[in-house]
Amino acid sequence: MTTRNEIVQWCNTILQAHQFKDYAPNGLQVQGTPQINKIITAVTASQAAIDFAASQQADMLLVHHGFFWKSEPLTLTGWKGKRIATLLKHNINLLAYHLPLDAHPTLGNNAQLAEKCGWLPEQQFGEQNLLNLGTLPPNQGNLGLLAAHLQSVLGRKPTCIGDFSGSLNKVVWCTGGAQGYFQAAIDAGADVFITGEISEPQYHLANETGVAFISAGHHATERYGVQALGAALAQQFGIHHHFFDENNPA
Ligand SMILES: [Zn+2]
Repeated sequence: MTTRNEIVQWCNTILQAHQFKDYAPNGLQVQGTPQINKIITAVTASQAAIDFAASQQADMLLVHHGFFWKSEPLTLTGWKGKRIATLLKHNINLLAYHLPLDAHPTLGNNAQLAEKCGWLPEQQFGEQNLLNLGTLPPNQGNLGLLAAHLQSVLGRKPTCIGDFSGSLNKVVWCTGGAQGYFQAAIDAGADVFITGEISEPQYHLANETGVAFISAGHHATERYGVQALGAALAQQFGIHHHFFDENNPA
């Protein structure tokens, strides 16, 4: 029998959760049953993910995007009240890791995305080690090839800004909504920066600096860390793990 506390403790330690300054609490967010046999993982603790976990009689939902963000309503009303009521009704633990699950050097979203895409990581750098520098293999050595590769791996057409004729070698990436780190990627000598989302200024910055910018999807780029962590938990504790995916185009 595996206990909730063993799993939470193991994740907190592996991910060094206490070392991060974050926008939401990392670790156990909603307390449910003390014994764990089945874990569902998902990118976000949406109503759909919670309903799926309940339908599977899961004991724990493990996500990258949990609750209690700084910008979120404090009261348990509306959509937030409904999500938490569903978890409590079914005695499901909610375990969430945000930045610790982006940055982990093997299980993290950044490390897992590089592995899925075949990039060669060289170093982590920048704000809380969230940025990653590496090289692209020759079969992804220009914007057209890289875009086609990302589309085949992620199942979603990326938005690409830049010169399609130039060759690319140095890549900097950060999964999710990291468009604000584009300048840090330019300063690090990137030929291309890859993240999940784009805002208006990045279009101009890409054109004016000659550093290409790719927005490959927030959900699409952050699918893999939580799955790797779920698989590691299944192996460590001999429990069942299943990943719940959603067709989120953002
Ligand atoms: Zn995210």
